[in-house]
Amino acid sequence: MLSIDSRPSSPSSHLMKTNPFMNEAIAEAIAAASRGEVPIGAILVDSMGKVLTSAGNRTEELNDPTAHAEILVIRAACAARGEPRLPDCDLWVTLEPCAMCAQAISNARIRRLYYGAYDAKGGGVDHGARIFSQSTCHHQPEIYGGIDESRTATLLKDFFAVRR
Ligand SMILES: [Zn+2]
Repeated sequence: MLSIDSRPSSPSSHLMKTNPFMNEAIAEAIAAASRGEVPIGAILVDSMGKVLTSAGNRTEELNDPTAHAEILVIRAACAARGEPRLPDCDLWVTLEPCAMCAQAISNARIRRLYYGAYDAKGGGVDHGARIFSQSTCHHQPEIYGGIDESRTATLLKDFFAVRR
C-alpha cells in the first residue's frame, strides 16, 4: 500500500517490485500506447505523497516533439500551482529521461527522479549527454534508476515489436 511518507529513502521502499508510484506511471504508459504513442508515462508527487499530475507521451497527438510525459507533468503542475519550479516534488517516469527532459527536470528543481528502464539509445541521465553531470547543470535531483526495470522495459519492447 501507498505509505504517507513520500520520501522513500530506504532502498527497500523505493526499489520494491510493485511500487505504487511506478504503477501509476506504467498505467499512463499503457494509456499512451493505446493512443499510438510511444509508451512512456510519468507522474509528479509532492512532499505529502500526493500525485499532482500524471501524463503519457502525446507527441503524435499534439504534433509536438516536446510533448514527452515528463514535460507534460511538469508543465501541468507548474501551471496548476502558478510557480515555475517544483522543489518539493518527485518525478516518476517509466524510462530514463532524454536530455531535453533531464534539463527540464533540472530547471524545475525537481527533488528526486525515479525512473524505470535504462535507455542506452535515447537517455540523457546515465547515457548520452548525462545532463546532470555537466558543469552547466545547476540542479541535480537525487536519482534512482532501474526501478521496476523488467516491467518498464517490457512495455517498450512489446510496443516496438508490434510496430516492426
Ligand atoms: Zn524526454
